[in-house]
Amino acid sequence: TTEKFELEYPCDSPTEPRWFLARATPLEHQQGGVVISHTNVTDRKRLVFDLAKLAATDPLTGVPNRRHFVDVAAAELERTKRFGTSTSVLMIDLDHFKSVNDTYGHATGDEALRSAAKACKSAVRKADLLARMGGEEFAALLPGTDMTSALAVAEKLRRAVASTAVCVEQNTCWLTTSIGVSQVSPDDKMIEEALSRADGALYRAKRSGRNCVIAANTD
Ligand code: GH3
Ligand code: MG
Ligand code: MG
Repeated sequence: TTEKFELEYPCDSPTEPRWFLARATPLEHQQGGVVISHTNVTDRKRLVFDLAKLAATDPLTGVPNRRHFVDVAAAELERTKRFGTSTSVLMIDLDHFKSVNDTYGHATGDEALRSAAKACKSAVRKADLLARMGGEEFAALLPGTDMTSALAVAEKLRRAVASTAVCVEQNTCWLTTSIGVSQVSPDDKMIEEALSRADGALYRAKRSGRNCVIAANTD
């Protein structure tokens, strides 16, 4: 062969994962001769992973951001189309959050967002994805979950947030959430359609007094 050959591969190690770049470079004047080198590229590889993680994470709360959520949810929609699995989506919005900022200040508001994210995350399962969609709005993707189970998860999440005290200096404040729940449909062209149905249900949850869970209409 006269072609240069490169391969990056992970390597099990007792302490930490490492990556190597194997490179085979044919010798110019020696038919069939190659130089094979293995370079440790762990540092560069780690940087790439760190950057990818950073791009997918909300800096305030440490949970995944909207972009990551939409990417994963879109892939889940394809699974629903292909395998007919049930997938549900929760849209979660903190109630009267503006008044938390107004009453206790922005720093307490930020702390409240961190506490809410933590409480929400603790209420969903490992296979679920909880993300901050922006502002005081979160979403959860529940793969393999039908509407009945999704409503139970949403209720658990609502209670988890409601029973979490946010303590900053001398202040203690309590949060509630309104949650809209929808099912991803194999007829959805884009995942945004399922998110929008959950948003509609969330809007109704706000209208019916907040601190509650509402299922999206199926039609
Ligand atoms: P509703 O129950 O209808 O949802 O009322 P709300 O006050 O929660 O909704 P509104 O959309 O009027 O206000 C959202 C507030 O969230 C306003 C904004 O200042 C606050 N907020 C958004 N992002 C952040 C943030 O990163 N940190 C802090 N401290 N506040 C934020
Ligand atoms: Mg709100
Ligand atoms: Mg909002």
